[in-house]
Amino acid sequence: MHPFSYERATSIDQAVQAASEGACFIAGGTNLLDLMKENVARPQRLVDINHLGLDTLEPLPNGGLRIGALMRNADLAAHPEIKARYPLLADALMAGASPQLRNMATTGGNLMQRTRCYYFYDTATPCNKREPGTGCTAIGGATRIHAVLGASEHCIAVHPSDMCVALAALDATVNVIGPDGSRSIPFLEFHRLPGDAPQHDNTLRNDELILNVELPAQGFAAHYSYLKIRDRLSFAFALVSVAAAMNLNNAGRITEARIALGGVAHKPWRLAQAEALLLGHSPGQRTFAQVADVLLRDASSQGDNRFKIELAHRAIRRALAQAAGRTPQSQVNKRVPSPRSNS
Ligand code: SF4
Repeated sequence: MHPFSYERATSIDQAVQAASEGACFIAGGTNLLDLMKENVARPQRLVDINHLGLDTLEPLPNGGLRIGALMRNADLAAHPEIKARYPLLADALMAGASPQLRNMATTGGNLMQRTRCYYFYDTATPCNKREPGTGCTAIGGATRIHAVLGASEHCIAVHPSDMCVALAALDATVNVIGPDGSRSIPFLEFHRLPGDAPQHDNTLRNDELILNVELPAQGFAAHYSYLKIRDRLSFAFALVSVAAAMNLNNAGRITEARIALGGVAHKPWRLAQAEALLLGHSPGQRTFAQVADVLLRDASSQGDNRFKIELAHRAIRRALAQAAGRTPQSQVNKRVPSPRSNS
């Protein structure tokens, strides 16, 4: 590990000033410390932002909630307001990581976590995300965990978060502050596709600090499901995940629908056109299959990850059935039940 200096920020202004001088923020450190130990990240100056008072959950005048950037994943998942009004978010949080990691990981850090592409962590191999212009070892290499949507010739990595998939489905907003003041970023515009600059995971500037994430009032507490398919139930990143949510009217027809995918792209994947297909329909496998067709219409494999396309198709149909049937995927017993119970 390279030498670095460490200091605690005592105010937001001080933290932003340090970032504008090239410092790197650390909060839970659940990803950054791994990156530093592997020599993937080599910050010279670390600024600890754990003591800025950004660990609160506050009601908003519009009926929504404001989640402080330093609220721990475990605290957020267990909060009564989140469990009651935004169970999709609570379940996505519980689907991620391990209890120990959730105790440390923060809301802001979850947004900022980096890909788990094997080659990104292997400094002996070329990687455009780690060292721009060196090439992408994954292309032509082992691609089991890589993207089937939105990839580029420069990078085929996926974003690893579960929480972010739920936040994308819920239409959250990210509030940040920098030397030029504060701004709000719609959640779907926070992360980006790799294009020809895969070194940038998101649209946050280096001198900006995430203050909080705002949830709108609509939480889809009745009809939701977070379905995560992974190699190992105990602790693994998603091969494919689906955040599904909808509202139904008294006639049983869908009046509002959200569906976001994780594990398939460089950012949580949503298509308004796919969601619109559900509106006015009664829940049913034929409609769900059409939604999956549209969501995956541009999917392409790199070889090893070909299975992800069919897996995603099935997961989309299953998650929509779970949401419609009020039988959300359990995050305690993580095994996916048979389709009989939610078809
Ligand atoms: Fe690097 Fe992206 Fe290629 Fe992985 S997929 S080796 S992160 S450039």
